[in-house]
Amino acid sequence: MSAVRTPARFEGNESAVAPPAAPESLDGTPAKLRTTPLNAFTIDVEDYFHVAALSSAISRTSWESREFRVSASTERLLAMLGERGISGTFFVLGWVAERVPELVRRIAAAGHEIACHGYSHQLIYTQSQETFRDETRHAKQLLEDLIGEPVRGYRAASFSITPKSRWALDTLIDLGFEYDSSIFPVRHDRYGMPGAARSPGTVESPSGRKIVEFPMSTALFGGIPVPVSGGGYFRLLPYRFVRAGLRRINERDGMPFTFYLHPWEIDPQQPRMKVGLLSRVRHYTNLDRCEERLKRLLGEFRFTSMRRVLQANGLLAG
Ligand SMILES: [Zn+2]
Repeated sequence: MSAVRTPARFEGNESAVAPPAAPESLDGTPAKLRTTPLNAFTIDVEDYFHVAALSSAISRTSWESREFRVSASTERLLAMLGERGISGTFFVLGWVAERVPELVRRIAAAGHEIACHGYSHQLIYTQSQETFRDETRHAKQLLEDLIGEPVRGYRAASFSITPKSRWALDTLIDLGFEYDSSIFPVRHDRYGMPGAARSPGTVESPSGRKIVEFPMSTALFGGIPVPVSGGGYFRLLPYRFVRAGLRRINERDGMPFTFYLHPWEIDPQQPRMKVGLLSRVRHYTNLDRCEERLKRLLGEFRFTSMRRVLQANGLLAG
């Protein structure tokens, strides 16, 4: 594990100072929340058929012919955020940006940060370094051409920057990304870097260069990092447990968390695929309750884009 520098305010004491709020983020924020940290609200913009858990039932060659559902669900998310005056970060898959460029423009026009979710949604550690470099460059360029400004942030398909694919950090630095949000400091069959830092900070690439990392958030229960901040964990775990975990990160650790979700997670009407039990549980449980949970969450924590959270904490230039 390489050296990780952690900003002093995240060292986990109760007196840690919450970062100053961006003025616009205070619109509509209940007074009791105004002293808690601003958290990153993120969406990985992909369709149900891109998901690794369903890849045994869905071949890549069939993607083109499948019903395209991502736009409608993303529009619902945009409306939900718009009603609450919240801006977030949308990590858009290059494949999606190519098919529905107007969706990317709509997200940007609504005031959200556009970031990159790669191009093909293949797990990085199954790709050659050359393939990863070429397709990530292509995806970044696609997005930048659509929004007319640099794309700074990156999140890997299925959080697939692991000990086997740390070299991807060097590729991201070479391509001009300023931050990554792919490292999940847990043990999991598809992803994870057990023992990696839980707090946003800088990480060292294999070549010794630095990039800002906003790791996927975990809450400590009995000293064990437990993922609570999005995706299947958000749908499968009881809401009260999720809320307790997120409060623990904000209040006990004094640090921001990143929440993440996919448009297909608020789409209970999506076609059902025949997959194994584990994938079925991970992908389909509580799709019909996710939107209501999300609305509740948006009223109980403070959110903005990942870029703004990193800027507010001195990790990215303003
Ligand atoms: Zn994804």
